[in-house]
Amino acid sequence: MRVLVIEDERGLAAAIARGLAEEGFVADVAYDGVDGLWSAVHESHDAIVLDLMLPRMSGYEVLKRLRAASVWTPVLILTAKDGEYDEADALDLGADDYLSKPFSYVVLVAHLRALLRRGAPARPAVLTAGDLDLDPARRRCHRGGQEITLTAREFTLLEFLLRHPDEVVSKTDILEHVWEENFDGDTNIVEVYVGYVRRKIDAPFGRRTIETVRGAGYRLRGTGR
Ligand code: CA
Repeated sequence: MRVLVIEDERGLAAAIARGLAEEGFVADVAYDGVDGLWSAVHESHDAIVLDLMLPRMSGYEVLKRLRAASVWTPVLILTAKDGEYDEADALDLGADDYLSKPFSYVVLVAHLRALLRRGAPARPAVLTAGDLDLDPARRRCHRGGQEITLTAREFTLLEFLLRHPDEVVSKTDILEHVWEENFDGDTNIVEVYVGYVRRKIDAPFGRRTIETVRGAGYRLRGTGR
C-alpha cells in the first residue's frame, strides 16, 4: 500500500513516513501543496495524508483540485485543533476522514487501514434540473451543455437549491446553509446572490428556474424551466 504524505513540518512528515514504513506501507512525502498535488495527480497512491496548513497551496485547495481532476484517492486530513478549519469543514471539503493533531501513529495507521478497506469514495452525483446540471465534485455547471462560470458562493447557493428541488426554501434557510454559521448579516445578501445566479443560469437562456415565492423565499423548479 502506497501512501502520499503532504506535510510541511519536516520532522512530523519524516516521523509519519517512518511510522508508516514500520507498518508495511510505502510512504511518499511532499512538503508543500503544489508538489503534493502534482504527486497525487500523477502518481498512484492508495491513500493520501494531507495537512491543511501548507506552503504554496493550502490543503483545502489541494483537495478541491484533486477532486476536480477526478482523483478519488481516499484523503485523511490532519487538522490542527486551533487551526483555521475544523473537522466538519474537513469532511465538507471532500475528505474521507480526519485526525486532529497531535495524534499517535497507532491511531493514524488504524484510520488509514479503515480508509483502505472502504476504498475510493463514490463520486458525488451530478445534480440536475432539466438541462441545467451542476457537478459538485468537478465544481462545474452547465445549461444545455454550455458551461456557466459561478463564484464559490454562487455555486454553493445553486447547489443548495438543487438539493431541494420544488421546495420553498426561506432566505434564512439559505443563509444558514450557504453562508458561514456565524454570519450575522442581513438576509438581503441572499436576494443579491439569487440575483447573480439568475443572471447566469436563467436570464441568458430565457428561463425562470429560481422562482420567488413572495413572503416565503425561493423555489427551484425541478424541471429547470
Ligand atoms: Ca502545516
